[in-house]
Amino acid sequence: MFETVVGLDVPDEEAGRLAQRGLSWLVAEGIVLPESSYDADGTYEGPVYPRGPAWGARITDDLRYGDTYGDLMVVTGRTVFHVPPEENERPVCPRCSTAVEGTGSEGLFAVVEAWMATGVGDVRCAACGGVSRVPEWRWEHDSFAFSSLGFTFWNAPPLRAGFREELSRVLDIPTCVVRGKL
Ligand SMILES: [Zn+2]
Repeated sequence: MFETVVGLDVPDEEAGRLAQRGLSWLVAEGIVLPESSYDADGTYEGPVYPRGPAWGARITDDLRYGDTYGDLMVVTGRTVFHVPPEENERPVCPRCSTAVEGTGSEGLFAVVEAWMATGVGDVRCAACGGVSRVPEWRWEHDSFAFSSLGFTFWNAPPLRAGFREELSRVLDIPTCVVRGKL
């Protein structure tokens, strides 16, 4: 399985700096090693770092596999982080917290492509009429997140409750987790 800790509302120009800050902390804590084992290419969306000596102890409560599996990929640049969505999963308006029915998701996805290309994309909420930028929208089950920063724990044991908050504090931004099976 994989879990991505996604930075929310990260300006494009801040993504590289925040990625470096998060990575420096993860290395200092012994969670990953500093030298990337794979760099971004057609296969990887970002550089991949091998797990460090404290990987299992720091990220998971599942000690059966904690130390033996997984590595970290750091993704920067506008990305649709996603897993197969729950049936009829609805986008949630960041202004009125309504899960938008009907064409809400199509309305949003019509704009996502433009946001990916240009960084600009506004979506009007069918419930309150408020306009929000693409990366501000959430989903009922966190099956999607639109952002310029993500830390993907590949093949990793389940992240401990609280680890995301810890990383969030280091980055000093809110985060969410998109998790799924490989
Ligand atoms: Zn709304």
